[in-house]
Amino acid sequence: MKQYHRIIASLFLTLLLSLTVFAPVQVKADDQVTSFVTRLYQLCLDREPDAGGLRNWSNALKAHTHTASQVVQGFFESEEMLNRKLSDSDYIDRCYRVMLNREPDESGKKTWMKARADGASYDYILHGFTGSQEFIKICQSYGIECGSIDFSEFRDMNLSLTRFIQRLYANVLGRTADTGGLNYWCGRIITKLKTPKYVATTGFFHSQEYLGKQTDNNTFVVTCYKTFLNRDYDQGGYDYWMNRLNNGESRDVILAGFADSTEFAGIIEKSGWQATSAAYLNKEFSNVNSMLLLANKKHKLPSGYQPSDLRVPNTRANQTIYLRDEAATQLEKMFNAAAASGVYLVAGSGFRSESLQSSLYYGYVNSYGQAAADGISSRPGYSDHQTGLAIDISDNSGATYLTTEFEGTVEGAWLKNHAHEYGYIMRYPKGKSSVTGYNYEPWHFRYVGVDYATAIYSVDVWNTFEEYFGVEGGDYR
Ligand SMILES: [Zn+2]
Repeated sequence: MKQYHRIIASLFLTLLLSLTVFAPVQVKADDQVTSFVTRLYQLCLDREPDAGGLRNWSNALKAHTHTASQVVQGFFESEEMLNRKLSDSDYIDRCYRVMLNREPDESGKKTWMKARADGASYDYILHGFTGSQEFIKICQSYGIECGSIDFSEFRDMNLSLTRFIQRLYANVLGRTADTGGLNYWCGRIITKLKTPKYVATTGFFHSQEYLGKQTDNNTFVVTCYKTFLNRDYDQGGYDYWMNRLNNGESRDVILAGFADSTEFAGIIEKSGWQATSAAYLNKEFSNVNSMLLLANKKHKLPSGYQPSDLRVPNTRANQTIYLRDEAATQLEKMFNAAAASGVYLVAGSGFRSESLQSSLYYGYVNSYGQAAADGISSRPGYSDHQTGLAIDISDNSGATYLTTEFEGTVEGAWLKNHAHEYGYIMRYPKGKSSVTGYNYEPWHFRYVGVDYATAIYSVDVWNTFEEYFGVEGGDYR
């Protein structure tokens, strides 16, 4: 029966409204909700409400399908509002009037203007205003639920990070950020997929857009100061870096110098992030889909782990080998590049299953005892070869395969200096057995991706995975 009355009432209302819809009507604010909505029309759109709009918004509030904040958002993001193409200043003034019921004060307005200049979206502004005590009071005075506006874009989640990305766009690429790009790079850092260091170096300085500018060394160093350190150069520092570049040091080494500096770390830490810390990447080291999946004597692989994308690389090999697809593709490129320089590499042992590793390891234990076996072979579950990202490489003749004499061959020398260009690092360098847990193996290379391999190599040729990422290595627990 109640339902019946409502239908009659709404039919009557529809009839009433259809008679008046063509003329702008002064709708009487017959209750608090409609007067709240009427006020929004007046302050946001500078006009009296039309009947349909007033009814829809009022109903949404009454039925609790929308909070006051969501209705405000609806007004500010309406076609009508967008068509006015308000300046940031005008937009913020309206926020003050609607949500604080007053004209802006100078310092407050400056803060909001700066947020916009830093790359924040309008939702960021609405989030701030709808969360204010003043707006909550206004909502209470009209007897409606205030609610709030959630962030939906990465660029709004940490403005100092957003500023950092803006700085990269402005200084490295010489342009303002597009919204998509800004959200993309902020998201990479916020979701911990990439470090700020990675974004700056690989994301921007290695981008085609930057490389296409073919900047001179002077511009490059000045840009490094502005992007990493957010300041102009000091003469001493400038001379130091220019000198290194002029002496043939690569730009990647200079970039690493800036990115690993304590000054840069301090700037990034202020935004609540760490520039290069291992904590960042811890997730990656245990992620079986990551090229940084870690296997060492302190870090065991998931039991029985076997990659799903193994394939036979199309290279010369002394046995049938399997690698993960990306590592195999990069191995093919590396072998082709070496051959083009007259260096003929031969692939040896690649992926090894946990059970194969088990029989290898216990074979060594039987022959030499456990202590000796641990120095030359991994226990099952701990082998780099089980990741499908590691490969033992032989010289052309096979004479030095799996011996340290490999380092003296042209093949060994070529790999030592070029493997990183294809994403491979020498996994167990000379003099680092206390760090890696393994004796020197100039033949064992591990795929980590070009960016990380280059970064690791750039520090120095004997640098290790463990040292670069600051993860534990050495012997078994
Ligand atoms: Zn190996």
